[in-house]
Amino acid sequence: MDSDAQDRFNEECAVVGVYGHAEAANLAYLALYALQHRGQESSGIVSSRGDALITHRGLGLVADIFRPEIIQRLVGTAAIGHNRYGTHGESLLKNAQPLVVEYSGGALGVAHNGNIVDADEVRAELEEGGAIFQSNSDTEVVIHLIAQASGERLVDKVIKALRKIRGAYSMVFLSKDQLIAARDPMGFRPLVLGRVKDAWVVVSETCALDLMNAEYVREVEPGEVLVISEDGLESLKPFPEAPHRQCVFEYVYFARPDSRVFGRTVYSVRHELGRQLARESHVEADLVTPVPDSGVPAALGYAEEAGIPYQLGLIRNHYVGRTFIEPTDSIRHFGVRVKLNAMPELMKGKRVVVVDDSLIRGTTSQKIVAMLRGAGASEVHMRICSPPTISPCYYGIDTPTREELVGSSHSIEQIREFIGADSLAYLTEQGLYAFQPPDEDRNFCDACFTARYPIPVTEAPEPRQLHLFDASQAKV
Ligand code: AMP
Repeated sequence: MDSDAQDRFNEECAVVGVYGHAEAANLAYLALYALQHRGQESSGIVSSRGDALITHRGLGLVADIFRPEIIQRLVGTAAIGHNRYGTHGESLLKNAQPLVVEYSGGALGVAHNGNIVDADEVRAELEEGGAIFQSNSDTEVVIHLIAQASGERLVDKVIKALRKIRGAYSMVFLSKDQLIAARDPMGFRPLVLGRVKDAWVVVSETCALDLMNAEYVREVEPGEVLVISEDGLESLKPFPEAPHRQCVFEYVYFARPDSRVFGRTVYSVRHELGRQLARESHVEADLVTPVPDSGVPAALGYAEEAGIPYQLGLIRNHYVGRTFIEPTDSIRHFGVRVKLNAMPELMKGKRVVVVDDSLIRGTTSQKIVAMLRGAGASEVHMRICSPPTISPCYYGIDTPTREELVGSSHSIEQIREFIGADSLAYLTEQGLYAFQPPDEDRNFCDACFTARYPIPVTEAPEPRQLHLFDASQAKV
């Protein structure tokens, strides 16, 4: 198979779990709808009818995959769901989640957000012992470990399996009569607990609770395992204490601004970081404009702090997906044009500060600078509301390889020249934490900006190739 046929391990995603609600699948659907920004490649829901699990998964957007007649068939009072992020490989239905299996303990569904860093090694050991894999997803490794684990209760097996792996996971498991939620000891990825009347729900972000009309209860704590069954909710802390390393990129880019993540509202963090960016890299200008939507809260903060008028100089077409996840480079480059359009009326003869949340390859910024100049801006000053992205994420954010990250090998001046801006400034490493009081613990993972990896990783593990394809998906 060519390299397009490769796929990466499980990447940035959304998960949901519902227990004890007559319309569990419907609630899961609402949660996935609210969490669409965390994954647009595929989506799935598994419900428990009490005696069996029922699954529906598909490629594409939540609203297209779950027609009303499908949701009606997902009967039962418990359900889990998953949105999967696009990767650079082919979209593979077999990697869509939740994964479901039937093993000696019964039927089991699993949905995972994160990335198991030693999945390759563990998988090789399992294969040596005769295990057969269906997908190249790291989540399947966990399923095998569960199936092999001894233990009376499902949760004992889950804990034994999770003890054997290292990495980032916010996971939900569904058996016919239990919902289990687990967050890794370092707490890389978010996971929150909520209530809808008597039902319990767990979701990646609180914006999903809002759509479900659920009450926010608390975060699932790093290293916590929750078992939800007809006996109620049980909280276990089965892993050795570890330093917490929550993903700061959730604040920078990934989470929705209206969500409360790691105890803070994402909007207010971005706004504060925008203010910090203005303090660190002020420039004389006539207007501040965001790269919508990701740069909006930061640009507002920047404009307020700098005392420069805020204008929407770039208008976004909301019906186009995020450029970054388009399948090929050529489409991605084209995508910036499709997605954003400049306002000549606002730009003509103006010195413009453009604020974006992050700069990855630099192609977006390059197009935007050209677009603003084309619309008449006399100066374009690019401001990035995070430090240079220099290192890939191995804990569940879909980033390009180190070579593709322009910040890994180029100076800020070289990047400025590449994107064609009059000036370019990033937030400093120190400034990235302007949202925290100075005496608060830095309990975040910022490896993408610092290359300091909380869990050691072997550099750029080669994605595993699959040699099994559905006829509808294989390249001819
Ligand atoms: P680039 O053109 O590669 O520099 O991409 C930068 C743009 O991608 C910024 O506008 C970000 O908002 C966005 N971005 C950053 N990280 C991600 C990600 N993991 N997935 C999708 N988009 C991203």
